[in-house]
Amino acid sequence: MTTSPKAPSSAIGRTETLDPADWAEVRALAHRMLDDTIDYIANIRKQPVWRPIPDEVRARFRDELPREASEFGEIYREYSDFVAPYATGNVHPAFMGWVHGGGNVIGMLAEMLAAGLNANLGGRDHMPIEVERQIAEWTRTMLGFPPGASGVFVTGTSMANLMAVWVARTAALGITARQCGLGGDGALLTAYTSKAAHGCISRAMDLAGFGSDALRTVPFDRSHRVDVEAMRGQIKRDREVGLRPFLVVGSAGTVDVGAIDDLAALGELCREEKLWFHVDGAYGALGVLSPVIAPRLCGLEQADSVALDFHKWGQVPYDAGFLLVRDAQRHLDAFAAPAAYLQREARGLAAGSPWPCDLGPDLSRGFRALKTWFTLKAFGTQKLGAMIERTCALARYLEEKISAESRLELLAPAQLNIVCFRYRAEDANRVNSEIVADVQESGIAAPSTTTLDGKLAIRAAIVNHRTDTRDIDALVGAVLEFGARRSPG
Ligand SMILES: *Cc1c(COP(=O)(O)O)cnc(C)c1O
Repeated sequence: MTTSPKAPSSAIGRTETLDPADWAEVRALAHRMLDDTIDYIANIRKQPVWRPIPDEVRARFRDELPREASEFGEIYREYSDFVAPYATGNVHPAFMGWVHGGGNVIGMLAEMLAAGLNANLGGRDHMPIEVERQIAEWTRTMLGFPPGASGVFVTGTSMANLMAVWVARTAALGITARQCGLGGDGALLTAYTSKAAHGCISRAMDLAGFGSDALRTVPFDRSHRVDVEAMRGQIKRDREVGLRPFLVVGSAGTVDVGAIDDLAALGELCREEKLWFHVDGAYGALGVLSPVIAPRLCGLEQADSVALDFHKWGQVPYDAGFLLVRDAQRHLDAFAAPAAYLQREARGLAAGSPWPCDLGPDLSRGFRALKTWFTLKAFGTQKLGAMIERTCALARYLEEKISAESRLELLAPAQLNIVCFRYRAEDANRVNSEIVADVQESGIAAPSTTTLDGKLAIRAAIVNHRTDTRDIDALVGAVLEFGARRSPG
C-alpha cells in the first residue's frame, strides 16, 4: 500500500511564532525596561525597604489563566505597578533580614544576556559550559582545593548540602548503593554536625533517606562553635553500639550569629575517623576573599566538599549556589548515569564529557555561571574581599552603638557580619518580635529575628554591599522608637 504525502495542515500556514511582529516596538520597550531597572537599583535608597502587600494587589494575582494575548506594554505596566514595588527589599541597603545578597547591576545585565542565549547547561559541547568550568576552577583556587576537584552550580546551598550528603553516602557505601538503595549498612550510617548548623542539613539527611535522626547534633561553645571533643565522644559511642559514622558537616558562618567552626580540628577528626568532611559555607566561605577573614577559615581547604552561595556575600543575583567536591571521581560516582539519549561522543555537539548533568540531579539547567563570571571579573576578588570585610566592620559599628545604648542589650557579639540584640523590656520576647514587625512595616529597615538561649533576638545580618553607617543608624533609631512605643517607660 502506498501513501501519498498529505497536504500541509492549515496550521503550518499560520504565523504562530512567538517572535514579535514588530521588532522596533519590542526594542523600544526593552530599552525602557532596562532604563527603569537601572533607575530602580540606582535610586533604591529613596524607596521603603519593604511594603506590606495590599489585599487588592495580591488579589490581582489570583486571576484566570490567560487564554488571549495581552499587550506587552500592558503586562510590563502591571509588573511595574504590582510586582516590583512589593519585592522583598534585599536590593535595599537597609535590608538586614536573614542572609540575603544585594545583587549587582553587572550580574543583572549578565542574567539578561544569559536569558537571550537561552543556554541549557545540562551538557553538550558549547562555550557556556566552559564558563561554568572556569568558575569551578576559580572556586577551587579560592578555597585552596587541589587540582582535580569538580564543581557545579545549583539553586542554593540547601541543594548543595543535600548533594554533598549523596556524594558522601556513595563514597561510604560504594556505587552499588545507587542500585540497591541504602540497605542494612545504610541504616547504620550516622552524620555529625553542630546544633547551630543550618536546618537544611537535617533536611538533607531526611531527603537522602537516612532520616533526620541519623544526624547527631552536637553542642556548641559560647561563641557558637561546635564542640569538637563532644563530637569525637559521640562518634566513639556510636561506633561502640555498631553504628557507622560517615559524615561530618562543619559550618563556615552559622546563620544565627555567623560563627565559624574550628574547621582545622574538624578536618583532623575526619582524617582520624575516616569520615567525609563537608563544610556548609553558604555565605561564610567567600570570606576567604578577605585577607582578614581568611585565616579564620583555616581548615576549609581540607574539606572533601564545600557548599556555598555566590548569591549571598558574592552579590551575584539569585540564584547561584555551588557545590565543590575535592575528588571529581567521587562526585561523578554519585550522579553520573548512562542514558541512550545522552550518549557521549568524541566529536560534534555530544562531545565534552563529563557534563554538568553528571555532577548533580538536574538535566536541564540555566546559565548561572555567566552572572557569576561577569561579577567576579567586573570587581575582582580583591574588591569583593574588601566589600565583605566592610560588612563585618559595619556589624562592629552596630555592635558599638548597641553597647553604648542602655535601652539595648547585645545578645551575641559580631563574629562576622551578624549582630543579635534586643530592646530591654518586660515580656521582651513579645515586645521585640513586635518591634521587628514594626520596623519592617515602617519601610525604614528590615531586620529579622532569631532565638538565642530562649531569648528572641533582633538579628541584623549585614550582607548587602550597599549598606553603610546611615542604614545602621536608621535601624537603631527605628528600634528605639518602636521600642519606646511598644514598651513605654
Ligand atoms: C543561606 C544558608 C543556607 C541555605 O542556602 P540557600 O542558598 O538558601 O539554599 C544554608 N546554610 C547556611 C549557613 C546559610 O546561611
